Amino acid sequence: MNHIALPPLTRLHALHCANCSTVYSPFELQGVSACCQQPLVADYKLRRPLSREEGINLADHSMWRYGALLPLLDEANKVTLGEGFTPLLALPRLAARYDLSALLLKDEGQNPTGSFKARGLSMAISKAKELGVEGCIIPTAGNAGVAMAAYCARGGLSATVVMPRHTPEAFKEECYWYGASVELVDGLINDCAARVRQLNAKGELLDISTLKEPYRLEGKKTMGYELAEQLGWELPDVLLYPAGGGTGLIGIWKAFQEMQALGWLAPDAKLPRMVAVQAENCCPLLETYLGHQPNCLSYNGRPTLANGLAVPRPLGEALMLQVLQESCGTVVAISEEEMLAGMRELGRHEGLFVAPEGAAVWMAARRLLAQGWLHPSERILLLNTGSAQKYLSNVAGRAWE
Ligand SMILES: *Cc1c(COP(=O)(O)O)cnc(C)c1O
Ligand SMILES: [Zn+2]
Repeated sequence: MNHIALPPLTRLHALHCANCSTVYSPFELQGVSACCQQPLVADYKLRRPLSREEGINLADHSMWRYGALLPLLDEANKVTLGEGFTPLLALPRLAARYDLSALLLKDEGQNPTGSFKARGLSMAISKAKELGVEGCIIPTAGNAGVAMAAYCARGGLSATVVMPRHTPEAFKEECYWYGASVELVDGLINDCAARVRQLNAKGELLDISTLKEPYRLEGKKTMGYELAEQLGWELPDVLLYPAGGGTGLIGIWKAFQEMQALGWLAPDAKLPRMVAVQAENCCPLLETYLGHQPNCLSYNGRPTLANGLAVPRPLGEALMLQVLQESCGTVVAISEEEMLAGMRELGRHEGLFVAPEGAAVWMAARRLLAQGWLHPSERILLLNTGSAQKYLSNVAGRAWE
């Protein structure tokens, strides 16, 4: 093994199996855990207490300002397009309309490649490069594939993207411009995953599927650090997130727990209730949460405008349910018509052109307010995960209904 210079204060210490905690080396290429075929989660060791001032590089206006808490060992391997550090916007006009005290939206649509997938893929491709990988493959509902294609191009790695044939053309086209090879499959992301296993039977490419390698999660967790920093270290009461594979939900919660351990949050600080928002057309988490099925393993979803939510059998289901339980959160499923209504409302009243996933999150907040689960006096944070630009072919002409 090569000796690589470690950052001065923190170090990536180990990876552990999310199911049974068996420990694996972070200095070798890893996929899912060999013991349980479950996600591996990164652990860090601090050499001494780390203050916020030491832990954050204020001069860096990207997610890499939290590099001290990220798994990259050598800066030279960083593959970046300036992802992260996205705006946290107040939504005063919508707040007034619904009589809310504090309504905020973190706009991840402003990331490179137009979605928050940029964070995870910047991190994963950087680590792939660090570990000597030359080519990557991914099954995707759209945005993750585009982001992987971009970061592979940027890092000098080859990219193979496998996506559903029905994905809007803009997602495929952007992959072509990044020089990726694109394979189209009839079905949803789980069918794409089966095709990935065929294409990569010899294991020559690194499989970057959600939670099948440990580092996309580390990139996504930076949203949690950013939220805390942008809010002056006082977290909102409720955070609504559009959950597909769940890396964002799990990653943000991991960040909150890391910040508690670091002492960056007040010791008595209450963490937000976490809400997973799904599409009615594909809501495996809701079905399991309600006890309608033991788990998602035989769930079949249908396509949805919110293609990021078209994940019928997420590997991270147990981890997502754990976040909901620990945070006293809940799950909500939103219809296609509601997503369009949410896009219209955010567009007309706040000038935001959000992806259907982000619109679903706003409609979920409205529903929870109507049900009394959310109170108008609570601080509500909506996570908009993407821009609507690449979804245009599916929503064009529907601004006036
Ligand atoms: C992928 C995606 C999601 C879901 O993210 P997960 O981390 O898989 O839960 C939500 N919104 C958009 C726009 C996406 O691309
Ligand atoms: Zn295990």
